[in-house]
This record gives sequence, C-alpha cells and structure tokens, in this order.
Amino acid sequence: MPPSTRIGFGWDSHEFRPNIPLKIGGLRLAHNKGLGGHSDGDVLLHAITDAVLGAIGAPDIGTLFPPSDPKWKGADSVVFLNEALKRMRAAGYNISNLDSSLIMLAPKIGPHANAIRAHLSRLLVIPADCIGLKAKTPEGIGTDNAAIANVVVLLAKAPAKRESFNLTVPDKPVPPPRKSPAKKK
Ligand SMILES: [Zn+2]
Repeated sequence: MPPSTRIGFGWDSHEFRPNIPLKIGGLRLAHNKGLGGHSDGDVLLHAITDAVLGAIGAPDIGTLFPPSDPKWKGADSVVFLNEALKRMRAAGYNISNLDSSLIMLAPKIGPHANAIRAHLSRLLVIPADCIGLKAKTPEGIGTDNAAIANVVVLLAKAPAKRESFNLTVPDKPVPPPRKSPAKKK
C-alpha cells in the first residue's frame, strides 16, 4: 500500500543578470536585475517543482525539462510546476503544506511575501496559510549576486475517488425501510 504521507525537498539557485525581468513564485517583481537561466529563472517555482517531483520519486526538473532543449528557453516556469502537480495527482496525492526559505541580498522579499503566498495558493490550489515563505539575506556566504530557494513539501494521500466507491455498491435494490412496531399502549 502506498504511504499515506510523503515528504519532498527542493533546492535551486540562479544568478542575477541586468536588464531582464525578475520572477519569484510566478510573480513579476520590480527590480533592475532578473534571474538568468534557460527558462524565466524563477528560482522559487523551480525548487517547489523539484520538491513535489522528489516527494513522488519522479525524475527531477532538469531531467524532465533539459536546459539543453531550446524548447524551454524563456519558458514560464508555471509549465514545469503544473507538470509536477499533474504527476502528483496521478500518483494519488495532494499537498498538505509547503515551507520555503528564499536567500537573496536584493530585492527585499518581505514586502512581497504575502502577495507571493497568495499567488502560490492559486497555483498550488491550497490555502495561503499552508504556505510558509521566509526571506533571508546571504550573510557571509558570498552569494550576493545569486538567489537561492529551499523548499520542503508534505503530500497526503488523496481521498478515494467516488467512482471507486460506486464499483463496490451491490446492484440490488435498496429494501424499503421497515415500519417501526406500533407503540404499546
Ligand atoms: Zn532553476
């Protein structure tokens, strides 16, 4: 029997480059630099995608969407996330909750955290209070020109589908309710 819960972990980093748009968690943030990469460089969506794929034992994001394939150049990372969610649902799981840490010197994520959580809530179809998002600065690790994302996700077995219940219902007519015996006087 498949386990009732599964845990997944995702990590990603991208380098800042001038004059490209910055996307974090599917949201465009105003900044003078964006994240380089073969896709739109959305470091948080990539780490979430890998966490979900890892939880179900699926191949990672780089295997499913190879950077060498020109098809994924400039791709919207929501495409990667949706593929991971599709595989997760096919495996019979839903997301229980997700926690993340973003590490970057600039821009400050704190003022955008609730907007990012609300957007992730729509993408992942889970309540915003099941999404943790913590913003850190890279003190002393020499990664001032990079953005790093760490994500853990907990999956829970989805309730059985109604169709499978119907298969087990006997096709006998339901007997009429028995009349309750007359009350003794
Ligand atoms: Zn990435």
